[in-house]
Amino acid sequence: MSGKYETRDGRMYIGGEFVEADRGERMESRCPADGELVGSFPKAGAKDVDRAVAAAKAAFETGTWSQNHASQERGEILRRIAQGIRARFDDFARIEALDSGKTITDVNLVDVHWAADCFDYFANLSTQVYGDVLPVPGDVLDVAVREPLGVCGAIVAWNYPIMFAAWKIAPSVATGNAMVFKPASLTSLSALELAKVIHEAGAPPGAVNIVTGPGPTIGKALCEHADVAKISFTGSTEVGKDVMRMSSSTVKKLTLELGGKSPHIFFGDVANFDAAVGSAILGIFFNAGQTCIAGSRVFVHESIYDRFREELLRRIALIPVGHCLDDAARMGSIISEAQMKTVLGYIEKGKTEGARLLCGGKRLTDGDLAKGWFVAPTVFECDHDRYTIVREEIFGPVLCLQRFSDEDEVVARANDTPYGLAGAVWTNDIKRAFRVAKRIKAGQVWINRYLMISNFAPHGGYKQSGFGKDLSRYALDAYTQVKNIYVELCGDDGYISTFE
Ligand code: NAD
Repeated sequence: MSGKYETRDGRMYIGGEFVEADRGERMESRCPADGELVGSFPKAGAKDVDRAVAAAKAAFETGTWSQNHASQERGEILRRIAQGIRARFDDFARIEALDSGKTITDVNLVDVHWAADCFDYFANLSTQVYGDVLPVPGDVLDVAVREPLGVCGAIVAWNYPIMFAAWKIAPSVATGNAMVFKPASLTSLSALELAKVIHEAGAPPGAVNIVTGPGPTIGKALCEHADVAKISFTGSTEVGKDVMRMSSSTVKKLTLELGGKSPHIFFGDVANFDAAVGSAILGIFFNAGQTCIAGSRVFVHESIYDRFREELLRRIALIPVGHCLDDAARMGSIISEAQMKTVLGYIEKGKTEGARLLCGGKRLTDGDLAKGWFVAPTVFECDHDRYTIVREEIFGPVLCLQRFSDEDEVVARANDTPYGLAGAVWTNDIKRAFRVAKRIKAGQVWINRYLMISNFAPHGGYKQSGFGKDLSRYALDAYTQVKNIYVELCGDDGYISTFE
């Protein structure tokens, strides 16, 4: 071992085998917190995608994998995957932290844990894929059955790697599809470790395949492949639009989980002021703001605005920013130099356009932080909503603080965005809470809480944040199609003979 870390040099998982890319090329992964080598993975090309899709197609079409619409056997595989993740919990946590720069505390509390729970959740649902008996008049039995789609491709972002693998693979297995999963190139290592767990859990060859490499080549190959029935995409709105275009020639089913610019609204009557301020902080600085549902626009009622701002800034100054393996760190690095430059570019734009910088606003280079891509928790006070930083998704630790006066005004401003992923409202007035929650045009709204993603609840956007749902029973809709089967029970009711 020559570097700082024991490296992981995983192989892809195709047709139940661990393989290199056809051209034998590999890519490196470096820790964004210090630039050290963490591992490497195969750089696949279109030929590898062909191989993975062929393996998935064979798995789907042979045996009983996709024949039983609900299946105890598939549930048991999912449960063994959950157990396999838990058995190697610390290993997964370390790989995920080093590969992504997330703090080990967050990875332990959230990512690995929730990924395992997600496999268990869909294990339970695998026997619950119901159809319907339809009340068609006459001596007839008419049923709607749910069938799997076939080969599903999944392409995901780098911000929650192991969780996204679980979100896509678990419902695909539960419903009897076969999947080709592509992690983000910046964070492919945990998916390749997961492949080993999937293999040990006894998934039939080809039911789950994992290919690694650049999105513009292998993501594109998946989207354009004639044998792929569906793409489940998690990533930026910009690439999501390309995915739609590329998938259109073969009319693929789509789930698109795209970007966001979510409003986090605090009325003057918040019951728990401390929790409210804490939520505003967690909502944007968790995972250094690299969260699709980040509460990047914080609206505070004028009656508590000054006190809220003061407490917010006091507590933000205390956030321990540090290396992903530092137990004391609560905010880690930005994923890459390029993403850090994007975030710093937005910060400069905020300054030059006249938004008032209240804290942060720069790269952190103290001591060892200089080796990584760290940006200080940043707050801009925004006296209007036309600043670029208020309008565009930054995907970094930048909070836009905005004052409001009344309910209609804040609802209009909250909805004045092309995005509609999430939002939250804090108030002690239950009528107002529910009224505002209903008026916010977003797929997920919390009342007196933020960032509450659960395996039990649907996650997915409105407007340009996408469509279709990950997680919960609603994900079963995303991985099945409904067939109507009509059974005539009386022979001829007289209608057929009218043509004679
Ligand atoms: P991205 O769109 O750049 O990449 C996402 C995935 O698409 C990666 O695997 C990438 O390799 C692949 N890709 C890139 N170009 C492609 C192409 N031309 N064809 C096919 N695939 C291609 O996004 P990112 O930078 O990895 O992630 C950040 C974005 O993801 C943010 O906008 C964030 O809001 C969004 N996101 C959304 C959700 C959600 O659930 N709605 C969750 C996480 C992240």
